[in-house]
Parts: sequence; C-alpha cells; structure tokens
Amino acid sequence: MPVLPRAILFDLDDTLIRAYAQPDEAWTRLLQMFADPLGAHDAASIEGVRRAIMDEARAFWSEAKTAAKWRLDIPGARRLSVRRGLARFGRPDDALADRIADAFTELRRQEYRLYPDAHATVDALRDAGVKLALVTNGAGATQRDKIKRFDLAHRFDHIQIEGEFGQGKPEPAVYRHALETLGVAASDAWMVGDNYEWEVVAPQKLGLCGIWYDPLGMGIPAHATARPSRIIRRLGELVE
Ligand SMILES: [Mg+2]
Repeated sequence: MPVLPRAILFDLDDTLIRAYAQPDEAWTRLLQMFADPLGAHDAASIEGVRRAIMDEARAFWSEAKTAAKWRLDIPGARRLSVRRGLARFGRPDDALADRIADAFTELRRQEYRLYPDAHATVDALRDAGVKLALVTNGAGATQRDKIKRFDLAHRFDHIQIEGEFGQGKPEPAVYRHALETLGVAASDAWMVGDNYEWEVVAPQKLGLCGIWYDPLGMGIPAHATARPSRIIRRLGELVE
C-alpha cells in the first residue's frame, strides 16, 4: 500500500460511476430514435440537431450562476437546452424537445455504471484506515438514488450532497465541512475527481491535494493554471 492521507474526499459522477461522459455518442443514438418527428432522415441532419443541442447545452452550463442553480434540476435544464437546440436547428417544437430531453435523461440513467475498480479501491482505502467522504453536487433525491443503486452508502464515513447541504463545489465551505466532519486537516486530505475546477483548483487552494481522475486520457485542460498533485487514469492506482 502506498503512503496514504488520513482522509480522502471522493466525487461521485464520472469518478466512482460513469454518468455523463462522452455525451456525443449517446445523443446521436437517442436522436436517431426521433428521426421521424425531427424530420432528420440522414446522418448529416442528425449530426446537425446534435450539434445544435450540444452547443446550446455548453452555452447554458458555461454561465456559473445558471449552472449552480440548474444542476439541482438537470432534467429541467436539459429540457431548456433541447428547446433552444431545436430552435437553433430551425425546428422549434417545445413539446417534442421535452420528449427528447426526458428520453435522454432516462437513457443516461439506465446507462450509469460503476467504474469496475470503484468498490475494490474504496474498500481497500477503508481497510487501510483512511477516512472517506463522498462529496457530490446535484439534487438530494437524484444523488441518493445513485448511492443506493451502486451500494455506496455504507462505504463512506460521510456523504455530502449539494442539494442537502445547501452549497456545492467549488464553494470552500463544502470541503471545509467535509473535513470538519471527518476531523481531519486539509493538509492530511486528498480530493479525488474528474472536474478540474471542483476537484483540483478549489480544494488545492484550501491545502488539500487535488488528485485529478482522467480515465479517458484527455490531459490537463489548456487553460488550466493550477497543476494537480497527481493524475490517475484508474481509481485502482490510488492503492497500488
Ligand atoms: Mg464528477
């Protein structure tokens, strides 16, 4: 077992479970099912709708205040982005947009998967005496569903969900509260996750080590100023 800290804070989505990664492929697949109502009968048309929706979604989530509010209602946010996407594509139809958005929400929910080494890694860390917290943004009910479905609750000493706690990453209070609950100083803790801002930049400002999880090998974002303490491509690397 390598040298480990006294506590590790784990992110949930796209860290322990694969939730939203690689949306392009999922959108293409979903939109093909709506080819008739969309009037999009060839690959280029489907690609046009997909681009319009994803461009609108990117614009939507790039605004920090909007994002902080709407990540507590992802299905609602998705409806808005798809409505705007269809309008941009020249096929405005809010009812159809809502059906497509809801179908995508359900498709992604069905396709959530635990990363294969998630349970084994978390359990090995626990057995090694590391205190563990799950620190996740999003709505209470949505995140609790995932925690139950993937048998995570009993594996953590503390579970902190934005919708229940009242604040989300990257607010400093989020990390501080988790550390206080575990009774561990920031200098004795790691934050592990896939979101560069939330799991590297913000926690490192508070003195935690930011361990960036990069399973797809995307590399450090071009605009990044902070450097993670470490980059891992598999969770299992934490205990090797
Ligand atoms: Mg994440």
